[in-house]
Amino acid sequence: MEERVYPAEETYEEQLRVSGQPHTLPPVMKDLQAEARRLGLWNLFLPHETEWSTGLSNLDYAPLAEIMGRSPLGPEACNCSAPDTGNMEILDLFGTHQQQERWLRPLLMGEIRSCFSMTEPDIASSDATNIATSIRRDGDDYVIDGRKWWTSGAMDPRCAVSIVMGRSEPDAPPHEQQSMVLVPLDTPGVHIVRNLPVFGYVDREGHAEIRYDQVRVPAANLIAEPGSGFRIAQARLGPGRIHHCMRTIGKAERSLDLLCRRAQSRMAFGRSLAEEGIVQTWIADARIGLDQARLYTYYAAWLMDTQGNRAAATEISGIKVAVFDIATRVIDRAIQVHGAAGVSSDTPLARFYADVRALHFADGPEEVHRRSIARRELRQQSR
Ligand SMILES: Cc1cc2nc3c(=O)[nH]c(=O)nc-3n(C[C@H](O)[C@H](O)[C@H](O)COP(=O)(O)OP(=O)(O)OC[C@H]3O[C@@H](n4cnc5c(N)ncnc54)[C@H](O)[C@@H]3O)c2cc1C
Repeated sequence: MEERVYPAEETYEEQLRVSGQPHTLPPVMKDLQAEARRLGLWNLFLPHETEWSTGLSNLDYAPLAEIMGRSPLGPEACNCSAPDTGNMEILDLFGTHQQQERWLRPLLMGEIRSCFSMTEPDIASSDATNIATSIRRDGDDYVIDGRKWWTSGAMDPRCAVSIVMGRSEPDAPPHEQQSMVLVPLDTPGVHIVRNLPVFGYVDREGHAEIRYDQVRVPAANLIAEPGSGFRIAQARLGPGRIHHCMRTIGKAERSLDLLCRRAQSRMAFGRSLAEEGIVQTWIADARIGLDQARLYTYYAAWLMDTQGNRAAATEISGIKVAVFDIATRVIDRAIQVHGAAGVSSDTPLARFYADVRALHFADGPEEVHRRSIARRELRQQSR
């Protein structure tokens, strides 16, 4: 990170700017990826041993996700970036041999990218039983109709496949109605309508609004069995949450470094900002909060490794609330200490803030996570 990744950040932005194409892959990323592969720092995220990975446990991987997460370039440089990691895990756990050969292998090699299309503009998507896109069986095919948005990664020119969640079993119980199907993005009827910026930032991988208009794919593209969408989503959830949380702690730690450096070098009213009691309180609270959040996340990862995802359900929800709360506060205070520089693009802080703020509801709003924790707690008490 120190020798290669941080110094590449400026080059990356410059190459993107010069290309005039906001979603193209800057050459410096290809160099970083080639080096990461040579060093064996590639596909570190798969939590079990496979043909492609030695299999780090969730707890082993957690600190690595933090280190990579300190830079927007770190995860992709090591082929460990969302949403591909989650998609690769789905294919690894549930894909047929044919699906793995066609999609998983090139994803693990870093040759293509993928996206995950669940959220829809017309319904409250935090309640996934609402998902209305239809996946209808027609002979040897499935036909998909619906409108999605915030499909991250779909604007990358290398993005070849989307995992689409939709309703295939409308008469089944609510949690058995949804299925996931692999849709190559060059299938007729897939229309990328537009990219959605985040607080005005255009992310390189993009967040697409997509119309699936009578999209026909072979029935063999269904992942697992019809109606298993929730089961698959559940399996994907735990490791993905650990990754998101640890990457976010990485961003917050880097923000705290920047805060401290700025506070020591900036003079106001005759002394450095670091000498002000209020700034010292912010620094201390950040250290306490980040260490708590990190240990809580390690605990969730350890529970998953030793007792399974189900046993860690409360913690998998809990870290989402705890980590994004402290990370947002730390980044916000780092911006405050930087003054106007903090909201410019001269530091990574403004972009970190936008990313982390959005994650208070993306990947499940924190209200919904609190609700699940409280209900479990109440059930236990009444038992
Ligand atoms: C940067 C970014 C990337 C994303 N990437 C993807 C992606 O790759 N694929 C994908 O499918 N989606 C993606 N999303 C979408 C994201 O997952 C959804 O925004 C999220 O699930 C919430 O759905 P919604 O926007 O429909 O909000 P709604 O479901 O309409 O909820 C709005 C608000 O209602 C409140 N609320 C909801 N339920 C409750 C409750 N029970 N109690 C109290 N309050 C409640 C919460 O405050 C919530 O924020 C992304 C979003 C962002 C911003």
